[in-house]
Amino acid sequence: NGWRSAAVLSRDATSKLYALRLIGGVDDGASIAHVRHSLLRLRCATCLKHALLMQRPPCDCDKCGRPLQHPMRSFWEFHADMAEAISLGITTAQLCSTCYKEGRRGSRGGVTDAHVTIGIREVPLSKFQETPIRRRRNLQSEEPEDSEQQNWAQCAECSTWHHWVCALYNQRAQTAKQSAGAEGGEAVQGTGWLCQACTLKKPPRAAKEREVEGEMDASMLPETPLSKRLQAAVAHALEAHQVTAEEVSVRTVSSCKASSPAKQPMLQRQWSSGEAYPSEFPFRSRAVMALQRVEGHEVIIFMMYAQEYGADCPQPNTRRVYISYVDSVRYFRCTPEGHRSTLYRALLCAYLGDCRARGYQHVHIWVEPPRAGDEYIFYARPPEERKPMKREKLRAWYCKMLERSKAENVVYKYGGMLDEFRSIKSARQIPLFKGDQWEITVPALLQDEGESSAVGSCGVVKDEEDVCGGSAALKAPARPPGGAAGARSQRLKGLPMNKSGSEDLVNKVQKQMRRLQGHFLVANFSPLPDGQEPQADDEPTVSYEVVNSRQAMLHHCMRHALQFNSLRYAQYSTMMILYEMLVPTVASSGGSYCLPTCARGRADDGSMMIACDVCDNWFHTGCLDEVPNGDESFVCPLCVDAKTAYIEGEFAGDAFSELMASTAGDMAGGR
Ligand SMILES: [Zn+2]
Ligand SMILES: [Zn+2]
Ligand SMILES: [Zn+2]
Ligand SMILES: [Zn+2]
Ligand SMILES: [Zn+2]
Repeated sequence: NGWRSAAVLSRDATSKLYALRLIGGVDDGASIAHVRHSLLRLRCATCLKHALLMQRPPCDCDKCGRPLQHPMRSFWEFHADMAEAISLGITTAQLCSTCYKEGRRGSRGGVTDAHVTIGIREVPLSKFQETPIRRRRNLQSEEPEDSEQQNWAQCAECSTWHHWVCALYNQRAQTAKQSAGAEGGEAVQGTGWLCQACTLKKPPRAAKEREVEGEMDASMLPETPLSKRLQAAVAHALEAHQVTAEEVSVRTVSSCKASSPAKQPMLQRQWSSGEAYPSEFPFRSRAVMALQRVEGHEVIIFMMYAQEYGADCPQPNTRRVYISYVDSVRYFRCTPEGHRSTLYRALLCAYLGDCRARGYQHVHIWVEPPRAGDEYIFYARPPEERKPMKREKLRAWYCKMLERSKAENVVYKYGGMLDEFRSIKSARQIPLFKGDQWEITVPALLQDEGESSAVGSCGVVKDEEDVCGGSAALKAPARPPGGAAGARSQRLKGLPMNKSGSEDLVNKVQKQMRRLQGHFLVANFSPLPDGQEPQADDEPTVSYEVVNSRQAMLHHCMRHALQFNSLRYAQYSTMMILYEMLVPTVASSGGSYCLPTCARGRADDGSMMIACDVCDNWFHTGCLDEVPNGDESFVCPLCVDAKTAYIEGEFAGDAFSELMASTAGDMAGGR
């Protein structure tokens, strides 16, 4: 069949060509040099296959189908909260720059109201963010030349070849090790990578050595007071159920200040109370991760994202917790089997108990089972875990969790949105959380009212639609089924925005709540016993860019093919995610806002920022020790440090000093 068996002797790092020795046949033992990767079918010594199945990463333009790759500089990626993604009907999409620009040209009002048709969906162009295309050469040194995008590593001892994934080969750590070895003057030989079989033959290595090899462990992630409490609660619950399992590690992997700016219609509305609507709702964003060592390697098995709106947050969000995402993969191992829910429930109950102790009064949960193909937090879960789940089933699961909290006296009652907000007098009493359904629905209903009264006064609908066309698609799910806009505006004709208008709005919102009955759960925490003060929030700021938001994690995994569709993949992806957390790639940490000590995850969360006059980067005023007032010029602490370092000669002679020489002069003049 034209194929010969051969042993791969080596691969030249520069030319990327392989040297082989033929096995069997008349020329048994003959050597062949300079063989291209595409002519080989390597057999992985771990999985015994050439091709490792991968979920195809999103890499073509959804409009024209062109591959998004070098020499393109960048492409446009869909970014949206879950509420928006669900109402738009898509979770991922990407456009090439040409299609993006075309979409923008096609609309009069620029990006704000431009839409692009993807499949059968109309998606606002404003939901796309520019993403640089990294050349594969920069991404990975073991660039294969075939189209299968497989990456291979060779054991320095037994010379066998392995897929990175199969061998849990941490290419980033190995590269760092090699260059550290080269810098330290050590011979690069002997620092090569060893396959698992060869590693086992060596004496056990110290934790430090394992770290250098890029093997990752949950213990490398710092614990926090909250993570310790949650981890203890999980261990306790498993013990109470007489479940034995390798210890489950729980970590708070993100704990940042954040803010949810109010939507325009809420701000513009003349509320009957006469009070202005708050301009923003500050909250603390938390991410909790649970990990377990499965078959010797760490695996992320559970993740949760939550928003905590504290006592200092304005009403109606005050003292409310919103659990925005919960996701898991089924790799938790225990005896007897079948205690995944025990673990997840224990974790959630413990978290709710903690929130109550810290003075929170309500928790809101959006019961939204992922539809087939949806990815929430974990990328490419196994196909059998991606079958659509019934909402009733998920709701029943949460109710069981809340029942447990009730039994623990953490929660005293719970129900749907309507149960909680049946007697409200104004729509502004409904808490709106970042990325939540109601954050879209309530302003959309308000805007509908505005439109309706415009119809009444001048009868022009078309223009009015165009003005807010950007959100037309977002409003779609908020419209009552079959509710004809014409009929509604007829009823509202000539109605001024008075008290009856606000009652009407409350009715409309409650109608939506009735329609979405079952989609939401609101629980009331039991009041703390008399005399017991709420505990202070003792969590330090925890920020890892790659997991600070669900989207950051999902997109990182998509881009680097970090899948969770098999245990081995989950082990590999966990290793690479933990490595990225502890050793962030320069590209991602270099492109962010604010200071390394930033309390807001170095993200633009809508809170007040100020630009540095020297480096032009933006800084949260809340993260700075000193904030200039008025027109005073501002030089960020990083630039001040850099200037000091420059003056002290640390950077003398390199390109950086030239840059600083020009700006240092400006700074001296400006001060
Ligand atoms: Zn393999
Ligand atoms: Zn395109
Ligand atoms: Zn080996
Ligand atoms: Zn900051
Ligand atoms: Zn600066």
